[in-house]
Parts: sequence; C-alpha cells; structure tokens
Amino acid sequence: MDRVYNFSAGPATLPHEVVLKAQAELLSFKDSGMSVMEISHRSDLYTTMASEAEQDLRDLMQIPDNYEVLFLQGGATQMFYTLPLNFANQAHRVGYINTGHWSERAEEEARYVSGLTVEEVGSSADQHFTELVHQVTLNGDYDFIHLTTNNTIEGTMYRDLPELDGRTLVADLSSNFLGQVYNVNDFGIIYAGAQKNSGIAGFTVAIVRKDLLEQVPDLPAMLSFSKQAAKHSALNTPPVFAIYMAGLVFKWIKEQGGVAAMQKRNEAKAQLLYEFLDSSNLFRNPVVSADRSTMNIPFVTGDADLDALCVQEATKQGLMSLKGHKSVGGLRASLYNAMTIDGVQALVKFLGEFEKEHGGK
Ligand SMILES: *Cc1c(COP(=O)(O)O)cnc(C)c1O
Repeated sequence: MDRVYNFSAGPATLPHEVVLKAQAELLSFKDSGMSVMEISHRSDLYTTMASEAEQDLRDLMQIPDNYEVLFLQGGATQMFYTLPLNFANQAHRVGYINTGHWSERAEEEARYVSGLTVEEVGSSADQHFTELVHQVTLNGDYDFIHLTTNNTIEGTMYRDLPELDGRTLVADLSSNFLGQVYNVNDFGIIYAGAQKNSGIAGFTVAIVRKDLLEQVPDLPAMLSFSKQAAKHSALNTPPVFAIYMAGLVFKWIKEQGGVAAMQKRNEAKAQLLYEFLDSSNLFRNPVVSADRSTMNIPFVTGDADLDALCVQEATKQGLMSLKGHKSVGGLRASLYNAMTIDGVQALVKFLGEFEKEHGGK
C-alpha cells in the first residue's frame, strides 16, 4: 500500500523518514534485542534516549538553562487544569485570551481550580474567531495570562505576541510547536501535545521557567510540576515509545535545518494554498490575512453538500482527512512540518480541477 497525503489536524502525518527509522529499529533498539517499547525506564538505554531528546529540543528552540523541560502525559487538555493548579497561587487570578475553541477549553478547565478568578482579557468571538486578539485589557495582578499561539480549528496564528506589560505568559503551542520560531524568553511556560506537529499522542511537553516552579504548592505527584521536575519526568513510568518518537522527530527537524528552516518551508506551503484560495471562484478562507495560520487552513465553498463531495473526491485521490472541524464545517488542510510541498501541490491541483467541474462562477 502506498502512503497517502494525510492532511489530518491530529494525530497527524509524521515525516516519512521518521516512520521508516522507527520501523527499522522496531525489533531491536540500539542492538539491545528488544524494542524500545520493552525496555525499562530505569535502564541506561532509556535515560540516554530521553536525555538526547531533551538536548535536541533545547538546541532546536534555544531553550535557556533557567527553563525546565518536562516530558509529561495527559495531553494539552490535562495541562488546561494542572497549569492553573500549579502556577496560580499568588494573585489567585488568571487572564485568558480567547481566540477559539482550544483557548476556550483551556479557560473552562481553569474554572475547576477552586478559589481562582478566571478572567477573559480579550476575545475575538464577535469576529467568529476569524482574527486574533492583539490588544488585551489588563488591570492589576495576574499569576499568568494564557494564550493559544495557533488556533488549530479556526486557522489563525500569532506571529507577534500581544504586549502584556511584563506579566507571565503561558502558551499552548500544540499545533505549531517547532513549526514557527518563538523566543522562549517571551514565555513563562510553553506546552504542547505532540500529536500535531512533533510526534504521537501520549507525549506532552512543558517548558517551564524555573523560578515559577518554586511557588508550586504541595500537590499529588502526578499533577505536580515540581515533583515531576525533581524526578526528571520519570516519577512513574513515562510514555517511552511516545518520547522515542518525539526524539526521532526532533532529530529529523535538526537535519532539515532547524525550526527556522521549518518555518520557511511552512510559509511556502501555506502560500501555495492561500494563493489558490484567494484567486478561486469556488473556495474561500475566512481568516484576516495577517493572522492566517501556516499550519491549519480551513476553507469552504459556501455549500455544505459541495464541501462534502469535495472531501469525498479528494479521498479517492489519496488526499486524506480534509473534512473541516464540525464547529466551522467545510474543509481544513493541516500542513504541519511533516507535510511535503508535493502534498500541497497535489491538493491545489485537485482543488483546481474540482472547481472547474463544479462551477467556479
Ligand atoms: C489538539 C489541541 C489540543 C488538545 O490536545 P490533547 O493533546 O488532545 O489534549 C489543545 N490545544 C490545541 C491548540 C490543540 O490543537
């Protein structure tokens, strides 16, 4: 069976070379005679693998020494709750920038933390999230301000972060982690579920400024960032295979020239599709151009039946998982790091043919 072009938003396509490498090493990891799924997380094999993955990530993002890198579980969704639980114990007040589904989910989960005031400090809900919030309304103390750098469903992405007057920024980078260059120093905490742009589900990364860890209260071990940090993310059995896969992806990105090279390639891929959409008489992307994501590109014909037909026809040609999220409908192409320019060219060609056949007015 040939591999297809997989435009899924997540779990998403992996670099071909990474899948091949995992296949080649599957029966015997580093000549151990065991797969990586079968080795002890207290073995040197594991420790070496995990610390290499951490070092590669540090190199890729130029993570300064005053940041801890944690390899956790539970996905971004668990972080939505554990972050305010751990890091909102001084002002007992946090601000959320609402730019779409995932930032709303983060805010909702924060409300489960008792004694915490959760405030929305900006929202583009009135614009149906077709643009970002660039100006926030702040007054007084907040433990942190939360933001989603790339809105996976709505297709918007921050290039420049909003001004927060020195407040701590906590950011969900799940869907453009390692696909867009950011300066780690601009953040108190960065977190991401890996299955979008940096590996497979089961691995969640958190990059935490060390001084923030000092104020973490005493919490159950699995929910405590400071206890996880003290045990180098191996407080209990870590998701060994998922960490291994992320490690392979990190090495692959290094070979491609790093995050800046990824960003450049992502911009070129996205531009191909946006140029097509903007000149199309059938399809359109609703997002304000300055805020458009390079990672997730939603588009519609304006006719739900035609959208569905388009997804169906695309599938027949090996262009998979183009159905849009149910909240926005239409189609969505996710062009993460691992999506090749060939894949985007094939998509644009197909959409052009579909348009000819189905009434570009
Ligand atoms: C997918 C996604 C999530 C949810 O991730 P899980 O790992 O499934 O919990 C959160 N935030 C963003 C931006 C996402 O794209």
